[in-house]
Amino acid sequence: MYFSKSFIPILKNNPTEAKIKSHQLMLRTGMIKQSSAGIYSWLPLGFKVMKKIEQIVREEQNNVGVQEILMPTIQSSDIWKESGRYEDYGEEMLRIKDRQNREMLYGPTNEELVTEIFRTSIKSYKSLPQLLYHIQWKFRDELRPRFGIMRCREFYMKDAYSFDISDDEAIYSYNKFFLSYLNTFKRMELSAIPMAADTGPIGGNLSHEFVILADTGESKIYTDKRIFEVDSTKTNIEKNSLSKLRTDFEKYYSVTDEKFNKNEFEKNVPDEFRLQTKGIEVGHIFYFGDKYSKPMNASVDYNGKKEFVKMGSYGIGVSRLVGAIIEAKYDDKNEIMKWPMSVSPYDCAILPIVNKNDNSNLEKATNIYNNLKNKNIDVLIDDTEENLSSKVKKFNLLGIPFQIIIGKNFSEQKIEFKEIDKKPEFISLEEIIKKIKNKSN
Ligand code: ATP
Ligand code: MG
Repeated sequence: MYFSKSFIPILKNNPTEAKIKSHQLMLRTGMIKQSSAGIYSWLPLGFKVMKKIEQIVREEQNNVGVQEILMPTIQSSDIWKESGRYEDYGEEMLRIKDRQNREMLYGPTNEELVTEIFRTSIKSYKSLPQLLYHIQWKFRDELRPRFGIMRCREFYMKDAYSFDISDDEAIYSYNKFFLSYLNTFKRMELSAIPMAADTGPIGGNLSHEFVILADTGESKIYTDKRIFEVDSTKTNIEKNSLSKLRTDFEKYYSVTDEKFNKNEFEKNVPDEFRLQTKGIEVGHIFYFGDKYSKPMNASVDYNGKKEFVKMGSYGIGVSRLVGAIIEAKYDDKNEIMKWPMSVSPYDCAILPIVNKNDNSNLEKATNIYNNLKNKNIDVLIDDTEENLSSKVKKFNLLGIPFQIIIGKNFSEQKIEFKEIDKKPEFISLEEIIKKIKNKSN
């Protein structure tokens, strides 16, 4: 893509309405545009990042055997009346009437709808477990939408649901998601810690929030630093291996605000390991047994007996992750953003010095651009006539992890190449390709 032809509407200055760096950077680099309070359009740069995040989330759901479906955004109120949540949900739910005067709503979550889908099709315990997910827009009429897409009203979420015959089997399903979440965030180069959480309005008894440490986060967290060292790489999908993984994490005190107890914290965590800080919730998993299956009559036949299925639900804030990654990766001091390669909008940027009367640098840049494109490397080339230092400044905000700079000292064998936050090296195109490919794997 040529910068002059791209739709990346960069702002000269930080927008004053944005209070945290992710919101500032996303507006500044034209990743999103607000359309009304808490509702955003996603422009090409932001959309590319979000789609890459979505794909990682999808692959890691598939990896633990969860099946993808797609449920609608608009739901009927009937099923919510069955579960008893139509009243409980309150003003966060956007309620709509259709032309027949039927009460509809824009789904804030999908426990009811997925339970309805399940109960009409699955009749025998032999079809269990059923693990289903979708990635779909949600609407919650938050009282105070803020921080851009981090707490907005319309947002993109992966939500999954598990159906099992017994508590024991349901916990096994829960643990599969536990592992898949660790793997998902790791691929985005995030360290997300599972923390024991309150079950809140969804109800139930077992729950973890996955939280990334960040000063600007809205969740208060209390944790034992040793939890960062827990190794999940040797875990496989077998029942015992998964339950060992949970035990390994749960050895360390690690909770969010609602579960915090000062005495327990001080009793369980030696002084030098205590960490009390803030974080961003990027995922949340719940086990709630028959909370919905009972009122909604979702049961299976178990050797002639009717058993209500045991359910869990599992969310990831796909759109919130875009902001969360910025909060975690943006280097305030040097004003440099560096996207993890796995979610970066482009793999490499080419910055030629372009003069009105001399096309030669742009020609060299286009040559390299074509070569990289042939190797499936996604490149943004800045063909504008801005001077180099303002190009570099601009690209420091765009966060593309690799840069090729083409100026008057250009040489085929020693091309100026740098990782965005490192010193330049002078290497051949083959070596450049190797370095980019290495980072992509
Ligand atoms: P929070 O505690 O941040 O309000 P929640 O507990 O209400 O979130 P869940 O129902 O657990 O959210 O939703 C799953 C995930 O969806 C959350 O972990 C979060 O990443 C994301 N999410 C929830 N609400 C919003 C929102 N208003 N804007 C953007 N993402 C959100
Ligand atoms: Mg939550």
